[in-house]
Amino acid sequence: MADYDPDNIFAKILREEIPSTRVFEDEETLAFMDIMPRADGHLLVIPKTPCRNVLDATPEQLAAVMRTVQKMAHAVKTAFNADGVTIQQFNEAAGGQEVFHLHFHVLPRHEGESMRPPGSMGDFDLIAQHAEKIKSVL
Ligand code: AMP
Repeated sequence: MADYDPDNIFAKILREEIPSTRVFEDEETLAFMDIMPRADGHLLVIPKTPCRNVLDATPEQLAAVMRTVQKMAHAVKTAFNADGVTIQQFNEAAGGQEVFHLHFHVLPRHEGESMRPPGSMGDFDLIAQHAEKIKSVL
């Protein structure tokens, strides 16, 4: 497996070298909105310390991230009055990973509504509104 690349896009978000729409952070983790949301409220949870994915993460990194994933799952379910929550996570290119800093997707879901296809840039103002909605229930 390749080494962790400190110049990956989420490392740059952590260092605030590129913008992001943050919704929650604690000492160990950060949650921010996905720029290509596959459902309204789609967000990502990452550790603040470096690791590529589940395969090289420490138990401590995983525990911290999962605590925030659960917190954000409750938050998006409430904020969007969702019927369920999808949590996704990919490991290495063959596993569907595109950004090589551990992240979990958290998506509120409604009965009968499919996720949108991947790869379409979201509307910035709408994403900001969705972030405010999530923050208001935290
Ligand atoms: P994957 O590695 O397959 O889980 O995909 C990476 C995810 O990161 C995709 O859902 C992208 O829309 C999202 N993404 C990529 N760049 C950014 C960014 N600058 N800010 C927020 N989300 C991003």
